[in-house]
Amino acid sequence: MNKPTAELAEVFSSVQGEGMLIGLRQVFIRFRGCNLECDYCDTQTDHTTEPCLIEQTPGRRDFVPTANPVSLERLTHLIEGWQRGWPGVHHSLSITGGEPLMSHQALIEWLPALRNLLPVYLETNGMMHAVLKLLIDHIDIIGMDIKIPSTSGCTDLWDDHRHFLETAAEKEVFVKVVVGEDTEDWEIIRCGEIVSSVDETIPLVLQPVTRANGVIGIHPVKMLEFQEIACRNLQEVRIIPQTHKFMGQL
Ligand code: SF4
Repeated sequence: MNKPTAELAEVFSSVQGEGMLIGLRQVFIRFRGCNLECDYCDTQTDHTTEPCLIEQTPGRRDFVPTANPVSLERLTHLIEGWQRGWPGVHHSLSITGGEPLMSHQALIEWLPALRNLLPVYLETNGMMHAVLKLLIDHIDIIGMDIKIPSTSGCTDLWDDHRHFLETAAEKEVFVKVVVGEDTEDWEIIRCGEIVSSVDETIPLVLQPVTRANGVIGIHPVKMLEFQEIACRNLQEVRIIPQTHKFMGQL
């Protein structure tokens, strides 16, 4: 029987630039494909036949194009080598995209093997709750988005996000919301209500829209007001921009 495969865009070592794991070094496994089309998306999300770019030396950007689909054996061989050569450097694997849960058939086989090498951190748009249920036992940390209409252009995803968070809360989880100048108070209130309905101790990260040159696209006072609103329902609300854009990283 053929082994499940997935189209990958990139595999590389870098510093996590968003959310609660910010600043930690991770191995990023970036999957192609997404089930949403957010207005601010800066990620190649299409399914193409383009090769996957695999870094040979962690953090040195010596990428080698590798034919898709990439096998699990190719990935584990690479990461085992990095673990031997650079012991203790990497905190975890970032399973990211696109939307990595679109590749759930591969992940069902891959995650147990990858988790033997490093803890698994899932970065997800927080929509595919049925798939998360299948995979949750093989994931250590979840960073999930709530997509609000004013920044993402996506509407009425609230119930999907709540269902997703109910399952994600079985593990360490935080929620991230990208906010901008057009974001309205009711959107932040709705986010706070969804998160607190599951667990008021789950951290909420308010991430200001950050342009490619590192410029923040929302006034700082507005960010503070949003934090005050979210704190009505939640115990831990942080404002964290995308730091990798300041550093010029991938
Ligand atoms: S969920 Fe993420 S990858 Fe998908 S379109 Fe939105 S920003 Fe892009």
